[in-house]
Amino acid sequence: MSDTDPSLPGQLFIVTAPSGAGKSSLIAALLKQDPRVRLSVSHTTRAPRLGEVEGQDYHFVSPAAFLALRTENQFLEWAEVYGNFYGTTRQSLEDLQNQGFDVILEIDWQGARQVRQLYPESLGVFILPPSLETLRNRLQGRGKDDPATIEMRLSLAQDDLSHENEFEYAIINADFDEALRDLAAILRAARCRRACQYPRYASLLTR
Ligand code: 5GP
Repeated sequence: MSDTDPSLPGQLFIVTAPSGAGKSSLIAALLKQDPRVRLSVSHTTRAPRLGEVEGQDYHFVSPAAFLALRTENQFLEWAEVYGNFYGTTRQSLEDLQNQGFDVILEIDWQGARQVRQLYPESLGVFILPPSLETLRNRLQGRGKDDPATIEMRLSLAQDDLSHENEFEYAIINADFDEALRDLAAILRAARCRRACQYPRYASLLTR
C-alpha cells in the first residue's frame, strides 16, 4: 500500500454503530493494518472506562470545558449520547488531513448527519450486530458497564439501528475477521474511486 502524501487530500469515513456492535475493536484492528488511515480522537464529558487512555481513546473533559469549546465553535460536530457530550474538533480532523491521512470519525448518527452536511463526499459505514440478542450478550460480556447502563444502552441501540439507512455501507459483524475484511475493502474501494486516484495519477487519468 502506498504511503500518505500531505499534498493529496485524504478521504473521510464515518463509522457508526450501536454500542456493543464491535465498532471500536474493528476500527482498532483496521488502524493496525492500514497505515494510510487514522482515527480522529473525540472530546467527551464521559468518565474514562478502565484502561482508557487520555488523548488516545478520547480527550476527557469536564462539561464546562466542553461547553467552552462549543461556544468557541471549535466542534465540527457534537452530540449528546447516552447522557454525555461527545464532539469532534475541527482541529483534530484538519491535523490528520493535512498530513495526508484518510480519517475515520467514530461517531454516532447525530454527528454523522452533521458531518454529511459539511462533507457530502464522505462515506458512511454502519456496523450492525447480527441480532439484538447478540448485542445484549456482548454488552454483558465486556463487563464495562453496570446492569442499568446496559439496559439503557440496549434500548438506545434500537433507536441507533433505525438510522442505518442513512449510511452507504452496512457491515454485519457476525464474524470479527470477516467484518474487518469488509471494512478494509470499503476503504480500498473508496481509494480506487477515480476522483481519489486522479490527484495521484494525473498523468494517466483524465479529469
Ligand atoms: P462510548 O461512550 O461507548 O465510547 O461512545 C458512545 C457513543 O458516542 C458511540 O456511539 C460513539 O460512536 C459516539 N461518539 C464518540 N465520539 C463521538 C463524537 O465525537 N461525536 C459524536 N457525535 N458521537 C461520538
